[in-house]
Amino acid sequence: MAGKSGKVGCQMDVEKRVTTAFEEFSERSTQPRQDIARSLIRLGKSGAVFSAEDLIKRLHRSNPHIGRATVYRSMEKLVHMKVLDRIDFVDGTHFFRLCGSDSHHHHLACTKCHRVVELDFCLEDEQIAAIERQQGFSIQDHAITFFGLCRDCRGG
Ligand SMILES: [Zn+2]
Ligand SMILES: [Zn+2]
Ligand SMILES: [Zn+2]
Repeated sequence: MAGKSGKVGCQMDVEKRVTTAFEEFSERSTQPRQDIARSLIRLGKSGAVFSAEDLIKRLHRSNPHIGRATVYRSMEKLVHMKVLDRIDFVDGTHFFRLCGSDSHHHHLACTKCHRVVELDFCLEDEQIAAIERQQGFSIQDHAITFFGLCRDCRGG
């Protein structure tokens, strides 16, 4: 199921990001990979959130021979490269979307319509340093997602 788009802070060249990511992780540009990239670019431009199943269905419309494993593997790599956001909801579902920012940021997600918004927000360095001190960790990275109801879903 495809959701509504979130607000994107800075308009990026989605096409370039996806194409570059695919070039980085695959030595050969196979037909399935080209198809996956094309579909992701289209989804990225619409700002929609989508499940792996949504993407597979969309791909199978034009090429029924694309293997599910290839799609899953590509998505996993793009999540790892932070080109694709993966949002895990407490009900056990998870959705993807083309990330709208290539700088450090966090997300706000609607638990009803699964809309995701990019947040230009982060913890203060001092808060992170305090956690490191208290827990004896050296923190390398973090991800924060706020969950709630968007304006439309609150009204409805
Ligand atoms: Zn993002
Ligand atoms: Zn909503
Ligand atoms: Zn942060």
